[in-house]
Amino acid sequence: MQAKLLIGVAVLMASAALVATASATKPGSGGSIGTAQVFVPNPVQSLGNESLTDEKDADSAVPAAAYHEVQLTNLDGSGFLHGDYATVYSATGNQAYSPTNTFDYTRHQDEFEQVMAYYWITQAQKYIQSLGFDGVTRRAIDDQPQKVRIDQLGYDNSFENDHPILEIRYGKGGVDDAEDAEVILHEYGHAIHSSQNFSFASEEAGAISEGFGDYWAVTVSDVVSQRLGVPEREPLPCVADWDSTSYTSTTPHCLRRLDGNKHYPQDLDGEVHDDGEIWSRALWDIRQALGHVKADTVILQSTFDFPGTTMADLANRTVAAAQALYGNSAAHAVRQAFEDRGIL
Ligand SMILES: [Zn+2]
Repeated sequence: MQAKLLIGVAVLMASAALVATASATKPGSGGSIGTAQVFVPNPVQSLGNESLTDEKDADSAVPAAAYHEVQLTNLDGSGFLHGDYATVYSATGNQAYSPTNTFDYTRHQDEFEQVMAYYWITQAQKYIQSLGFDGVTRRAIDDQPQKVRIDQLGYDNSFENDHPILEIRYGKGGVDDAEDAEVILHEYGHAIHSSQNFSFASEEAGAISEGFGDYWAVTVSDVVSQRLGVPEREPLPCVADWDSTSYTSTTPHCLRRLDGNKHYPQDLDGEVHDDGEIWSRALWDIRQALGHVKADTVILQSTFDFPGTTMADLANRTVAAAQALYGNSAAHAVRQAFEDRGIL
């Protein structure tokens, strides 16, 4: 399935008691720093190999070169993947645990997807704070131990949900969703909006959040890949190169793209993911014009308290944010990106 967002689904927190019991009986690591191996952001992108397939979650399906050793930060010292910005719950499979904060797993293990979610959400939050959204310079954004559940869904879908609590769940149909950092980051994009008091009151607001999630997946993947020195060998504007090998037949495999030419309003079809491609292309063009630091600061700043109205309304708010933060030329570039899509 390509649908990647369901909102308002009731969620039971049956695993909370189980997690607490397990924590009480095992010694903690006592430290906040650990090591792990992860995909950056996924094997198709970093290896440049469009012929990889899931092969029922087999380790042999993905070359060892797809794994990258990274540092985990912000752990709470319990020995579990609980930290300042992400807390992993899992009701099925083993829960990742290490008294030495060493989390080296391979993809067939349930713990690998848990590590991926912890690492990528923590990286995304650290990036947000590096842009000044730290509660001091600017308002904080989802600065809390984001609750995440892995592999809870037997079908290929993931979603974010803020009723009754803000929680992200990743499914395991096809390629396990949390094996692709771009799926993790897309869902975290919705959590960002929820935490910003962004209203999903209209179809256009839903489409904006889908488009933002796709954009967020690519911008954070790119920033982290560059910092780690991991090559990016497939088209950057292609979203979820690895997850989408399960349900696309043409290459490059993409769930969606940021660089399409959809135009408002004639290309609207009323489906939020489809219509989100209009929005994500505008964000992509803003990034091309301003660079990721200015673009992402403007884009995040503009969505606080969005009342769920129209693309045009949020586009005007985004132009205003660019004007306030970076002046005339930045505001002009942002306006141009939305005019090119027909939104302004
Ligand atoms: Zn979504």
